[in-house]
Amino acid sequence: MPSANRDQGTYDTADYQAADGRHHLHPFTDFKSLRSRGTRVITRAQGIYLWDSEGHKMLDAMAGLWCVNLGYGREELAQAAYTQMQALPYYNSFFQTTTQPAIKLAEKLAEVSPESLNHAFFTGSGSESNDTIIRMVRRYWQLLEQPQKTVIISRNNAYHGSTVAATSLGGMRYMHDQNSLAIEDFVHIDQPYWFGEGGGRPVEAFGLAVAQQLESKILELGVNRVAAFIAEPVQGAGGVIIPPASYWPEIQRICDHYGILLIADEVICGFGRLGAWFGSDHFGIRPDLMTIAKGLSSGYLPIGGVLVGDRVAGVLIDQGGEFAHGFTYSGHPTTAAVALKNLEILQREQIIETVAAQTAPYLEAAWGKLGEHPLVGEARSLGLLGAIELVKDKQSRIRFDDKGSAGALCRDICFDNGLVMRAVGDTMVISPPLVITTAEIDELVEKASRCLDKTLAAINDGKLS
Ligand code: PMP
Repeated sequence: MPSANRDQGTYDTADYQAADGRHHLHPFTDFKSLRSRGTRVITRAQGIYLWDSEGHKMLDAMAGLWCVNLGYGREELAQAAYTQMQALPYYNSFFQTTTQPAIKLAEKLAEVSPESLNHAFFTGSGSESNDTIIRMVRRYWQLLEQPQKTVIISRNNAYHGSTVAATSLGGMRYMHDQNSLAIEDFVHIDQPYWFGEGGGRPVEAFGLAVAQQLESKILELGVNRVAAFIAEPVQGAGGVIIPPASYWPEIQRICDHYGILLIADEVICGFGRLGAWFGSDHFGIRPDLMTIAKGLSSGYLPIGGVLVGDRVAGVLIDQGGEFAHGFTYSGHPTTAAVALKNLEILQREQIIETVAAQTAPYLEAAWGKLGEHPLVGEARSLGLLGAIELVKDKQSRIRFDDKGSAGALCRDICFDNGLVMRAVGDTMVISPPLVITTAEIDELVEKASRCLDKTLAAINDGKLS
């Protein structure tokens, strides 16, 4: 039954929650349990802070979903959308037409991305971008008369999106299992997750060994079957997994040696997150293709894309023939205008330079101190990505029995105490807006520390059982 408030157009929080429960299915959510717990209604935001419909203020240490890199409330971005919508809200680029913002954005991306990436294919999201890459990679090898090269090697626990193809490309087993989803020709090797899977081996030896799994897998499958390898420079949704220094050079060597295309999924690492334009710049990777989304528009409007290197673009363009792929919103002029303005602001305000020189080192020092907390087995960060591993026993690094329960408890305590951190199992992760100041980092870390204390107290009170 609609409430009286609804009839008058004056919803209070309870009305919103009730309507949400009745009509709205949320992503990656247990619908039943959400309905019983109710939702928090976020109503406004400014800088790095959010407010809910009850007036609670929260520090958003996740930049939304790893995307609001410029922070909230940027009027210039709203203005860019408004101006473009008045001139031309939408037009496509399918049939020998194009729009000015799409052209300028492609040109700007060629300027800021690594040297050999000179073409952009636009999409509406990260998942669509990875679907595009799968089709593009296969077409590339087809055009080179090697159509049997269809296998893409990815990593266990990788997240590359949640369309059918992107789910299979990713390595999250629980996602595959839900729909018997494991399309053929995507295979997975281990992730460079030293804390979770290093088993006490020296860090660099572990990094090298995990990278060498790529070589073993190529040899096992046969080079004539393998099309590409895909990975995030730093795994985000997998739990902010920062690879050992030995990892990426070995991956690059193997890809070069066997002529396998290297795909960097930069959906999270791109646009300054690691203190460089791209994660690939930070690690010295030379990808043939890059997946981009999120920070491309700071999340103000949905847009993604694929940056295509000369090796692939050369074949696709020179050989001719239609690439039968694209989306209604590929190169959408309004989203492109907002993304372009977003990139201009990143440059004008030297935001990436500030992350590299100031806020990332500051976060590393402050965040690292959380490693001393009795509940924390490791605190790590790179750029403005951070993670803390919650453990039952600090010395032996033994985890809690019911995997994910400590993380969920900590996340809820954070929410209730004005801090948005995300739990990936029992790993707490952060990815704050790139505009966060050192004073705001102090506040973030101080809040996180207090929430860890409260989590420990709750665990000692038996809240996990
Ligand atoms: N790749 C990576 C690395 C991601 O983190 C994400 C989203 N978290 C995606 C792809 C999928 O992006 P989207 O949700 O925009 O489809």
